[in-house]
Amino acid sequence: MDFAEAQKEALGCTKCGLCHSRTQVVFGEGPLNAGLFIVGEAPGFNEDSEGKPFMGASGMLLDRLLDALDLGRERVYLTTLVKCRPPGSPPRPPKPSEVSACRPYLVSQLAAVDPKVVVALGDLPSRVLTGRKESASRIRGRAIPLDGRYVFPTLSLQRALYTPADRALLVSDFSRLPELLEAERPSTYETLNVTRSPDAEHVQPGLW
Ligand code: SF4
Repeated sequence: MDFAEAQKEALGCTKCGLCHSRTQVVFGEGPLNAGLFIVGEAPGFNEDSEGKPFMGASGMLLDRLLDALDLGRERVYLTTLVKCRPPGSPPRPPKPSEVSACRPYLVSQLAAVDPKVVVALGDLPSRVLTGRKESASRIRGRAIPLDGRYVFPTLSLQRALYTPADRALLVSDFSRLPELLEAERPSTYETLNVTRSPDAEHVQPGLW
């Protein structure tokens, strides 16, 4: 399925039960030539209301993280594992069957954008995109080469919003993205240990 077909189909999709809890499908947005592709877990209340990914407080945090790298959100492709808001307040995590039903849309997006770096925000995106069982906190900040691109697991924006120490780790991980975006695409399956920025590791959480 190509990108245009995927987008058209997703906007009316009823392939999983999440079609009942959404107001609208949040497919994702960004330029199709973006080098950086960011994947969250699922749309929440704000995203479901506005039809755009990463809105509200977590969207503001993401904007600040990207602005610090001179990368506005308009230069990044943003999406989520599932395109419809799960039920509950806060929404429950998507079930494996829902992630699997929605996976063809993510695959089409990745194929169309062909980014060099894919940031996986949080446990579920990290596990789905790397195929590893470890939590994001165990494998965060490593550039894992897969299919000619780097998958870069890190913590979720929600977790960073509520825990200052996690926010500092997220800032530190994002500070490594420019180096990865400058690197050659991987031709092996060896994990690339990009430089840690000492300043970023000691960033004042209050600033974020
Ligand atoms: S989450 Fe994905 S698979 Fe499920 S209804 Fe929405 S678009 Fe379709």
